[in-house]
Amino acid sequence: MSRVLQNYGNQVTQGYHSSHHGIDLIGSHGGTDYVVAHSAGTVTAAVSGYGNRQGSSGMTAYGNYVDVTHTDGSFTRYAHLQYVSVSKGKKVNSGDVLGYMGNTGNSYGAHLHFEYWNASGVRSDPTPYIDADLPGLNSSTTANSSKAKAEKETKDITKVVVKSVEGSTAQHSTGNLTDTKMLSAGVEILIQNGDKIMLPCVKDDITLESHRKGSPAVLKFSCVKDSNLNFQEGNAVSLRVNKANVFYGYIFEKKHSSDMPVIQVTCYDQLRYFKNKDTYIYTNKKYSDLIRMLVGDFHLALGTIEDTGYPMSRAEETTLFDICGNASDETVLNTGKVLVQTTW
Ligand SMILES: [Zn+2]
Repeated sequence: MSRVLQNYGNQVTQGYHSSHHGIDLIGSHGGTDYVVAHSAGTVTAAVSGYGNRQGSSGMTAYGNYVDVTHTDGSFTRYAHLQYVSVSKGKKVNSGDVLGYMGNTGNSYGAHLHFEYWNASGVRSDPTPYIDADLPGLNSSTTANSSKAKAEKETKDITKVVVKSVEGSTAQHSTGNLTDTKMLSAGVEILIQNGDKIMLPCVKDDITLESHRKGSPAVLKFSCVKDSNLNFQEGNAVSLRVNKANVFYGYIFEKKHSSDMPVIQVTCYDQLRYFKNKDTYIYTNKKYSDLIRMLVGDFHLALGTIEDTGYPMSRAEETTLFDICGNASDETVLNTGKVLVQTTW
């Protein structure tokens, strides 16, 4: 468990001492992770553009870093980030992603350097607060809620389990998953393969897990194999509960049971792909062209996207989120137009 890393617990690699006024952390699996805000506040520094500067001192030693100032005037600092994904002035909640762990500034291997500065501007050892509220910033409202709070933090997943849905054998029709004619009450899963929509016979539980904000949701179900059911990895899937669309994503994996005519299916929403790291080198493409290219490469659905003008050439090796973000920033800088991203 960690309040400063998104997916892993923290492993402290260097504690607080007279010449190190913070603590160094890596993920409990020994690697890097997204760095998240320890507590709610406002981003008061978001510094990027630094590479590795071993041996440097002063502010450049921090490399790329973010400060989050909390309601009592204290702040937390997150340093050596590979990249920063927030900008100054942004309000963040506890757990919101600030950037990705890195090796910028005076750093010898990717880690997070985390500092706590009290309201008087004095640093102290953040170790006691690493998985707890900062002093004087108790976000709990009732006296005995610390246990409940701890439980909430370890289970930072909302899981919806739909118990044993009884489906009928697969039916199929032609249309689109967004077609309202397809809606009926109850719980149903629809799969679209080409122009065919199938309603598979779902067996046992349907689980929908959604992690923190900005993380992909995972939908898992099993369905009975029959002659009408024909779908592939990559097909679009929708889960509807009482006519409301609660999940829309893509089939990521299909597993067949050896002894039963049952297929276990795992689906992710589109965000999953945008967390992938990839290398994209492109020349003379507009931001809108880039989005079309990524969406095409990952077989994602795209709404309408306006021509953004301003062709650019870039080489990127990072997450799709950042590939898009960087292209968007460059376009905004050069056209003065603020881009509104279409929902995907
Ligand atoms: Zn450090």
